[in-house]
Amino acid sequence: MAKLKPVTCRECGHRRVKALVTHPITGKQRRTTVKLCQECHSKIIDYPFFNSSFGQWLRRAFQRQCTNSIPRDTHELRGILYLWKFYRIACGFHSDGEEVSKTYDYQLCHIDPVKGDDGSVGRLVSSNLIIAPAKLNRELSNIPYPYTSRESVSLGDSISDDNFVSICRERYDIPLLISEFCLMPVKRGKELPVFKSNGVDVATTLSKELKRLGYPISHIIPMVVGAEERAIDIYDTFFKVGGTLACNLLIKDGMKCASSWIEYDFLTPYERNKLNKAKRETRKNEEEEWW
Ligand SMILES: [Zn+2]
Repeated sequence: MAKLKPVTCRECGHRRVKALVTHPITGKQRRTTVKLCQECHSKIIDYPFFNSSFGQWLRRAFQRQCTNSIPRDTHELRGILYLWKFYRIACGFHSDGEEVSKTYDYQLCHIDPVKGDDGSVGRLVSSNLIIAPAKLNRELSNIPYPYTSRESVSLGDSISDDNFVSICRERYDIPLLISEFCLMPVKRGKELPVFKSNGVDVATTLSKELKRLGYPISHIIPMVVGAEERAIDIYDTFFKVGGTLACNLLIKDGMKCASSWIEYDFLTPYERNKLNKAKRETRKNEEEEWW
């Protein structure tokens, strides 16, 4: 192999060879395309995570939590990332070029509350969170209710802007999550494009969420007048009494549906890109054979 020529590192200005990086999923190694030495590269490798919209959301969410109640490892954080993506799809954001608004006003609600009345803390994990109408979350936030997801822990150390990054680096495989979810820094100072996504209605979100939380659901409230109010009533039952009764109500009032209607797609963006690429290549080969 040819000897590598040193370049001027754009960060530290030293003449060094370009950093050797390993792809977190495939394990393939290559030299960086940018002029960065190994030392400087390791300092910026998790930049796309902390500056992505998920990273910014996580920073705010962690400040209400403590070291005991945040995800314990990469696997638990991955669960939050999936749920956060499902939450954004359910909301359905649209922009007129000047302002962004939600089609549906959902929140990621804690099932065991962040501040339990015995001083305990409800964990920030996907099994303790549910996508629910924001209105309901506001109404119920300060009322004690007996239902629990058994995801409360004792109070640990607080998390602030000062220790957020170091705690994340210590606990999670950040480069892996960047690759799996194709995380990118939020573009600043760019013009807001016009876009629209429809979001997911309350009745469908209710069924999807109960199913995700492990309830044997194959029903959905039919899309008739009053469907949203009925779904909100069942959400209310879920928070106050529990998932089992909520499921019974849903089965009684709902209609049976295909599981694909109420199941989330757990393909990561990385897997989806690979799949699409493979499809494109098959199509190309087929076309070539034809000609
Ligand atoms: Zn450098």
